[in-house]
Amino acid sequence: MTDPRCQPAASHFVDGRPLEDTAGTAFESRYPATGEVIARLHAATAAVIDSALGSARSAQAEWAGLPPAQRGRVLRRAADIMRTRNRALSELETLDTGKPISETLVADAASGADCLEYFGGLAATLTGEHIPLGRDWAYTRREPLGVCLGIGAWNYPIQIASWKAAPALACGNAMIFKPSEVTPLSALSLAGILIEAGAPPGLFNVVQGMGETGAALAAHPDIAKVSLTGSVPTGRKVAGAAAGGLRHVTMELGGKSPILVFDDADLESAVEAALWGNFYSTGQICSNGTRVFVQRGIRQAFLDRLAQRTARLRIGDPLDEATEIGPLVSAAHREKVARHVRLAGDEGATRVTPPLALPDGDAWISPVVFAGVTDTMTLAREEVFGPVMAVLDFATEDEAVARANATEFGLAAGVFTRDLARAHRVVARLQAGTCWINAYNLTPVEMPFGGMKQSGFGRENGRAAIEHYSQLKSVYVGMG
Ligand code: NAD
Repeated sequence: MTDPRCQPAASHFVDGRPLEDTAGTAFESRYPATGEVIARLHAATAAVIDSALGSARSAQAEWAGLPPAQRGRVLRRAADIMRTRNRALSELETLDTGKPISETLVADAASGADCLEYFGGLAATLTGEHIPLGRDWAYTRREPLGVCLGIGAWNYPIQIASWKAAPALACGNAMIFKPSEVTPLSALSLAGILIEAGAPPGLFNVVQGMGETGAALAAHPDIAKVSLTGSVPTGRKVAGAAAGGLRHVTMELGGKSPILVFDDADLESAVEAALWGNFYSTGQICSNGTRVFVQRGIRQAFLDRLAQRTARLRIGDPLDEATEIGPLVSAAHREKVARHVRLAGDEGATRVTPPLALPDGDAWISPVVFAGVTDTMTLAREEVFGPVMAVLDFATEDEAVARANATEFGLAAGVFTRDLARAHRVVARLQAGTCWINAYNLTPVEMPFGGMKQSGFGRENGRAAIEHYSQLKSVYVGMG
């Protein structure tokens, strides 16, 4: 049995319609809260991939020839349709990921719609430059790249698909999107919505599969660009495959981001930021502030308040709007997170929050705060991707900055202080692609998002994303 709310008409969406090929490897999607199978699908075969590439190529040629304002209108219509279906899309996302409906109603399809609307608005504003050269002159044209490949992670499936599709399509590209095999469903809904909004068949195709499907596409000569959201090890493989064909790449990878809380910070807002910057989406957010550096003067007050707040978290049925914390995405992922919790204790960190009562099921884990964490502990060095917070203490600003930067990652960082000069001085020294001052994990579409160091390169969102989905042509005009 599968869930009729979730089982799609077919595994893939190619050339404007659902496409099935049962010769592909079978796999299933489960509702993490209960472990029930909600949908059965098949990975793409070579025939599905060929059909996706062929239809994307012809749709891209047609799409790139449209007036940009017309392309923008399609994206904005898609945003409107997504908003009217937000409830159903949110339920689908909750069933596929296990994230509470209180989150998916506001952060998933809603953020996807914002992104389609934003890039729909930008489409008609993308222009080149006029360059006077005396008698002669030159101009630049901003041109699409061609057929782009998007590869998604499982934590924000429809948001990731939209964050990649919207700028790609606004610039006149087509996109083939491969969702994570763990959460394959909502990208299919986005594909259907784009067709309803007027996109040509083939412009946004969804093909399912595991890593091999992504690898086959990333190395395909017809792919002009690859944008991956995933882990650092996968990023290395995908960037390597793309480099073989000198393809453009955007890499949105993992992190071990610091939050620096100075003595003069507003305690309540710093605690809330650390709490939700670690436990939202049950800790499965790339930019989470998983190393919380707290200055010694407020360390105890911070830990006391954090423990009170953690004890009050509402864990339970993800489909109940009062629930704040759901399960992890799968039992297998729970095992990885549980290993980190055991290791943190073995390496000498102090657990300052007791385990909370959990519903039955294999994917549930209690949020936990560890204090007394040192820089060399595994918990301070490796991405856990679960609700496990490490609190470290520091004495001086210089020390905090040096230790915050002492990681291979560079995705995000936060600073909490009432001293504005210090806030900007510290942010300027932090090696992170996205920084927040007296806020955390807010990612409005207007603001570029992306990583430094091993956390990746390229940017999503904001005008900056346009640079990563288009190329410049310079034209010299001789007037003699
Ligand atoms: P993952 O790296 O295991 O998989 C990501 C995607 O890559 C999946 O679709 C997978 O099928 C595909 N893939 C795997 N091997 C491949 C290969 N050789 N070639 C092509 N594709 C391949 O990541 P995950 O477990 O799905 O997601 C969690 C990770 O994603 C975490 O590290 C997290 O930090 C990161 N993440 C980053 C961001 C960001 O914006 N920076 C956002 C969300 C998640």
